[in-house]
Amino acid sequence: TTSVTPLSALSADDLAARLTTVRAAYDELKARGLKLDLTRGKPGADQLDLSNALLDLPSSYRDRSGADVRNYGGLDGLVEMREIFADLLAVDVASVVCGGNSSLTMMHQVLTALLLKGGPDSPRPWSQEPVVKFVCPVPGYDRHFTMLAELGIEMVSVPMHSDGPDVAAVRALVADPSVKGMWIVPTYANPTGAVCSAEVAAELMAMPTAAPDFRILWDNAYAVHHLTDEETKSADALGLAAASGHPNRPIMFASTSKITWAGAGVAALAASPENRAWYLERLGFAAIGPDKVNHLRHVELFGDADGVRAHMRKHRDLIAPKFAAVEDALSSRLTGLGIAEWTVPTGGYFVNLDVLDGTASRVVQLAKEAGIALTPAGSAFPHGNDPRDRNIRLAPTFPVLAEVEAAMAGVAVCVELAALEQLTA
Ligand code: PLP
Repeated sequence: TTSVTPLSALSADDLAARLTTVRAAYDELKARGLKLDLTRGKPGADQLDLSNALLDLPSSYRDRSGADVRNYGGLDGLVEMREIFADLLAVDVASVVCGGNSSLTMMHQVLTALLLKGGPDSPRPWSQEPVVKFVCPVPGYDRHFTMLAELGIEMVSVPMHSDGPDVAAVRALVADPSVKGMWIVPTYANPTGAVCSAEVAAELMAMPTAAPDFRILWDNAYAVHHLTDEETKSADALGLAAASGHPNRPIMFASTSKITWAGAGVAALAASPENRAWYLERLGFAAIGPDKVNHLRHVELFGDADGVRAHMRKHRDLIAPKFAAVEDALSSRLTGLGIAEWTVPTGGYFVNLDVLDGTASRVVQLAKEAGIALTPAGSAFPHGNDPRDRNIRLAPTFPVLAEVEAAMAGVAVCVELAALEQLTA
């Protein structure tokens, strides 16, 4: 039964009574012996099935120009595939490179090249600077942060708002010349679902930075991953940057990992002419050409960008009910208690759940003991350190709907139990 009285307004006796009730509910939950997993943003098997035609493609081994895609060459990717990404990302086809299956790998290549060689406008390789720092909007994507930690780049956090990173906080940080770049997931951010507005994007592209080679790694992993029929457009990062005199500032990334197959899709990068040439020059020492057979089978699967958009509506129909189940479970059990806030994303792969300060780790532990795996508390922060220990990332796409429902009902009990434990301590 849901109370509309905030828990903080209950008397000590009422809190103690409620703790007994919720503990009993938790014990029942545990006795069910669940084995559920809400940890990673992976497509469900039904979503992967949408692209099974890829198993029989391509139907030929010649691209539009007649080149044999089975052979070496074509370092920047099949032009037909680049056209599709250019349309989806609203950039010029000349700015796009299509690569292997992982955009994360392209981000890593860009960072290692900046460290070892520097960019077109770097005074020296980043590794020769005494210290290199990156601005990290939080909560954010855990792999962005672990990549920086791996490469020895220090992280400085700024809050992520519903319209993008806190611009005033970013501006203050980039006055430091050791701050060389920042991450942003501009559309349906991981994990908050925030969409960076055109205004925020314009400020980020135009702001003065002490570092002449400041880079914004614009990871548009969820550009076309809408959960409603409102198909939000991403801000025009490359255009805004060029217009404000910083064409080399943004480097854009995307992939079909959550469009076709997460393990066998196509990744893309888009950037200014100078950045693109710089990237391809580095890449030329590491590869003779990408998997153009994979590019061609993707081109045949979709035909064009509208084919991708139609395909994404099928994904939406499969996963929107799972997001609705998360919302139902949280709102029916936690609304009004004053112990949790959560996002209702209109796209992307995650729900961001903020619980009572100091209880996120306990919620994750309680859930684990009840057989529900959640992403470790703090993982959306640099070094896994959420200063308020309140943030939990929920990923509902991979389990089947009934499992999402069961897991989320359990998570809501754990959120309340952890809060009651703390309030009665
Ligand atoms: N970027 C973001 C923001 C993501 O959430 C993910 C996967 O969860 C990735 C990149 C991974 O992309 P890829 O599969 O292209 O390496």
